[in-house]
Amino acid sequence: MNHALSHGLQGWLDEHAESLDTESRLAPEVLPRLADEGLFRIGVPAACGGSNGDARDAIEAMTAVAEHSLSAAFVFWGQRVFIEYLLHSPNAALRERWLPDLLAGRCAGASGLSNAMKFLSGIEALQVTATPATSTNTAGAPTIAPHPAASSSWQLDGRVPWATNLQPGAFIVAIAVAARDGGAPMIVAVPHDRPGVSRSADLDLIALRGTRTAALTITAAPIDDRDLIHADAPAFLPHQRPVFLAMQCTFAIGLARRALAAAEAVGGAARPVLEAPIRTLRRTLTETVDALHAGLADQRFVTQAAELFKLRIRLADIVQQAVLFELQASGGRAYHRDQPLAFARHWREAAFIPIVTPSLTQLQGELLKHGAQSAVAAAPA
Ligand SMILES: Cc1cc2nc3c(=O)[nH]c(=O)nc-3n(C[C@H](O)[C@H](O)[C@H](O)COP(=O)(O)OP(=O)(O)OC[C@H]3O[C@@H](n4cnc5c(N)ncnc54)[C@H](O)[C@@H]3O)c2cc1C
Repeated sequence: MNHALSHGLQGWLDEHAESLDTESRLAPEVLPRLADEGLFRIGVPAACGGSNGDARDAIEAMTAVAEHSLSAAFVFWGQRVFIEYLLHSPNAALRERWLPDLLAGRCAGASGLSNAMKFLSGIEALQVTATPATSTNTAGAPTIAPHPAASSSWQLDGRVPWATNLQPGAFIVAIAVAARDGGAPMIVAVPHDRPGVSRSADLDLIALRGTRTAALTITAAPIDDRDLIHADAPAFLPHQRPVFLAMQCTFAIGLARRALAAAEAVGGAARPVLEAPIRTLRRTLTETVDALHAGLADQRFVTQAAELFKLRIRLADIVQQAVLFELQASGGRAYHRDQPLAFARHWREAAFIPIVTPSLTQLQGELLKHGAQSAVAAAPA
């Protein structure tokens, strides 16, 4: 299953991939170009404004973009996972309010849920709190009054240290918030113009600089139940995790395919030595992608998360190896800035794969825990 991008989009991404990685000049163009190609509608039911298919179709399209530019693929990811949260939210009014603009690329969707993923694994506390509007805040002052159309209202305070696709003046971001009244943590959708929401400048990153990645500071921002994606984050997130993680896998798959193609395209003395290992790695990549699609099709990752964790770890290994083959095939030419090679960018893009949450070390930690739990369960009483 491969998604074919139009020649126009492929050409634009190839021409500007370097710029999208090293500067933010073209950042405003990415979202509209992906939207014009209809990419955000893939895997979205026609009844919701989409072009049907399922998440696997969206994953193939995202992979196709990642083959050309990881920055563009990451913007695609932010937009598409936010759309996925809305599709599975019980809040139909929220979905109807935001989906048309998100599908058309008029509004940018962002997922600030790294913190929530770490929270679910017991790694860190939630960094944004929700104080019921009827109570007092930490300074003892009364909080905002509830909106007449809302049955519950809160005040948000905290920080989102990272979120990608925060297009200035036109974004909505999903964040997890801890309820100060002792209720379950919630997932809320916070638009850019909500009072108390302040976006930092784009973060000063070593790569992926065209992704509109920034931090948010949230001070006494009013929200109510009309902004709720889900009232119970621990119940909602495990069901979203397979698609969230599988969409992250597209970065490794697309980049590995491109690096392997580049390694194969280089002639020279290394070719006979690298030919067989490249073929083997390509086969492993294909098998891993097939396993990913199979697990998504039968939904086994919802209950067997460890299997998906292993696939993402394997893909992270594959992409590092693929970029290394590209370097070895190219030799010293890879070090020349005046050569038409994309190696240096591929190397920087590959550096992102192990650290995006859930990071490789977190996934390995989860597998160790899982192994320990299985061992305890299997031990004789
Ligand atoms: C370009 C870019 C874009 C990003 N976009 C987004 C976004 O859109 N949304 C979003 O939510 N986040 C985003 N992030 C954040 C990203 O997903 C990671 O959360 C972040 O890079 C890791 O945070 P940290 O280094 O502060 O981790 P730290 O908590 O400081 O940890 C440092 C290292 O230790 C590891 N570690 C920490 N605790 C454990 C543990 N208990 N077990 C095993 N390993 C552990 C971490 O994985 C990390 O490798 C982005 C990051 C980058 C670089």
